[in-house]
Amino acid sequence: MTYIIAAPVLPSLPILGSDQRFPIRRVFCIGRNYAEHAREMGASVDEATPMFFCKPADAVVGDGADVPYPSATGELHHEVEMVVALGAGGRDLDVEQALLLVWGYGVGLDLTRRDLQAQAKAKGHPWDVAKAFDHSAPLSALRPAATAGIGADTVLRLRVNGELRQQATLGEMVHGVPRIIATLSRLFELKAGDLIFTGTPAGVAALQRGDRFHAELVGVAELDGRIV
Ligand code: MN
Repeated sequence: MTYIIAAPVLPSLPILGSDQRFPIRRVFCIGRNYAEHAREMGASVDEATPMFFCKPADAVVGDGADVPYPSATGELHHEVEMVVALGAGGRDLDVEQALLLVWGYGVGLDLTRRDLQAQAKAKGHPWDVAKAFDHSAPLSALRPAATAGIGADTVLRLRVNGELRQQATLGEMVHGVPRIIATLSRLFELKAGDLIFTGTPAGVAALQRGDRFHAELVGVAELDGRIV
């Protein structure tokens, strides 16, 4: 096979404790998955029908990277989130099968052009320009599920310039990981290489050029970076 133009590079992430990398297929995100965050956005949680959106795989940037402040916004917001990496796929899964797909976990930022998101909401437009822009998904190295020790008490937090901005335990998620995967699998055929951003706790706020962020899924993964 030869291509008429240079083939795009497959995005990938490092794995803690390994020289191998995790290839990224798709990036799914769930919205409004922590009640306090839904409230701060003036929205409510829909228990029955979770809300999803996507980012392109090449929006992912790795740990330690400089993240360029995006064009066309004056309100770049951080959303710290646990990220689930799938090592297998499936469709129409039930909740009992869902965790079998999980290969590992990381911590990431669902960077958001909040001003463009507000405009999109007001007009009933899609969220792509608010959510799916270049460099919009800083993401840590991944830890294999077998050694991650993820539980309801696991703490997710974000510091910006040393100041605590967001913190919650995973037990505060409205839709847990098995339910997120099972629901997504009824909307898309999931495959190995898919990533899922699992929603952000309250405390989302603006980032400025020069800000340094430090995200943690405590005991599992850490992410550092700087807005430039
Ligand atoms: Mn989010």
